[in-house]
Order: sequence, then structure tokens, then C-alpha cells
Amino acid sequence: MEHDRCPGDEVSRESRTMAELIYRRVLLKISGEALMGGREFGLDPDTVNRIAGEVQMAVAAGAELCLVIGGGNIFRGIAGAAQGMQRASADYMGMLATVINALAMQNALEQLGVQTRVQSAIPMATVCEPYIRRRAQRHLEKGRVVIFAAGTGNPFFTTDTAAALRASEMGCQAIMKGTKVDGVYSADPMKNPKAERFERLSHLDVLSRDLKVMDAAAVSLARENRIPILVFSINKPGGLAEVLTGKGKYTIISD
Ligand code: UDP
Repeated sequence: MEHDRCPGDEVSRESRTMAELIYRRVLLKISGEALMGGREFGLDPDTVNRIAGEVQMAVAAGAELCLVIGGGNIFRGIAGAAQGMQRASADYMGMLATVINALAMQNALEQLGVQTRVQSAIPMATVCEPYIRRRAQRHLEKGRVVIFAAGTGNPFFTTDTAAALRASEMGCQAIMKGTKVDGVYSADPMKNPKAERFERLSHLDVLSRDLKVMDAAAVSLARENRIPILVFSINKPGGLAEVLTGKGKYTIISD
């Protein structure tokens, strides 16, 4: 019946969903390699679409989401430097690789009906917006997913550091680090079945034990700005949305 519904209904349903989220504004960091699927190089469209689906679910649950995607599936500066290139030039190539990944993810998200904006730390007016902090914040408030491309815009840095930097600038409540496994282990659990899994760690634990979660600059920045890092499996269907509500399996890094 018509009078069973009132204008407040939608709002209260929305706020109920949001109330279930422990982390509402978050930054998801995924490596370029996560987009390769079973391939040796580049992008696997099915994998890109699947991860876009994970983002879509998180947005539907009421999260404000930023995304930083690496470029390791296309080019890593350090590999170029090893072949005799100048490190800075090679790093710029790596940053351009992250723009390719950002555009691929934007395309996949928009095909699912998720509104997105790509902002690049290296201005590229014909392909995307330049990085403007206040504008990015506004996009998030409007429910758009903001994909930060080109890392920090500086050579000698990584997209992990870009993730911690943008998360700090956007006032994110957590950095969600999507990996192949369901948390942080003392060694690679794919290679060493005896590897110990950690449920909780401090930022300092990660630094002092040299655990390979994110690079040290990124972990230090997250620590300084009191941003927890949640490490979870990006391969588990519905995993991202689940972790945002405090459920599922993940390692939390927080002081
Ligand atoms: N890069 C850079 N500055 C940044 C971010 C990235 O120079 O702020 C370059 C660097 O060469 C790096 C490449 O971009 O190797 C790809 O990024 P990253 O290795 O972090 O990607 P991931 O390992 O997450 O796929």
C-alpha cells in the first residue's frame, strides 16, 4: 500500500547499512599483479571484472572507496634500472603503467554502473583528471569511486607509499590491502606450509620484523597518521565488503 512507504524509508535503510560498516571511507590497494589472473603479463579482463565486482559490492554496502592500483603487471622501475636505464626514467614508465591499470579498472567499474573518477598524479588532461585533493574528497562524498593513478608522481617511490599518502590526505579510516592470501604470514604460505599467520600486528611489528606487507615508507606513513592496514584476500568472493563490516578473515595492523 502506498502509505506503507515514506520518504525516510530509503534514508533509514541506507544508514542501517552504513552503521554495519566499521570502516566507511577506505582506500583499497591492489598490486598490478593482482590484475594478471593466470597470465604472465598485462591485464586479464575476467580478473579485472571480478575485482570491479568486489568494489561494487563494497560501494553498495555504503563505503566511500578510493583505489590505488600498482603497475607491476606492466612495468617496474627497478627492472628497467637493472637493464641499464636511468632509475628515474624507468620509474616514470612504471607510473604510466599504473595509469593503464586505472583506466582498465575505471572501464570495468563503469560497466557495472559504478560511478568513478580517475585522478592522476602526473597531469594527463585528455585521459583523466589531475590529482586535486579537495575535488577527490568531493567525489567521495558523492559516492564516486576515486582511482588514484601514477602513484605519488615521484620516482623512487612505490604505489604502496602512494596508497598510504592518499589514504592520509582523504582521511581514510583504513587501508585495505588486497593480496593473494588471507592475511600476513611469517613467510610466503604458498611456499612454506609452516608459515605462521598473524591475526593482529602493530605497524612497528611489521617494520621491525621486516614483514613483507607494504614497503617501510608506506607503513611508517600509515603509522604516523594512525591508519590501520587490513590485509585480506582479494580472491575470496565478497571478501572486501565482508572485511569492511569486521567479518571474514584478515590481519589487522594497528597500534
Ligand atoms: N612508481 C614510482 N613512484 C610512485 C609509484 C610508482 O616511481 O609513486 C613506479 C615504480 O617504478 C614502480 C612502478 O611505478 O616499480 C609500479 O608500481 P609498483 O611497483 O608499486 O606496483 P605494484 O608492485 O603494486 O604492482
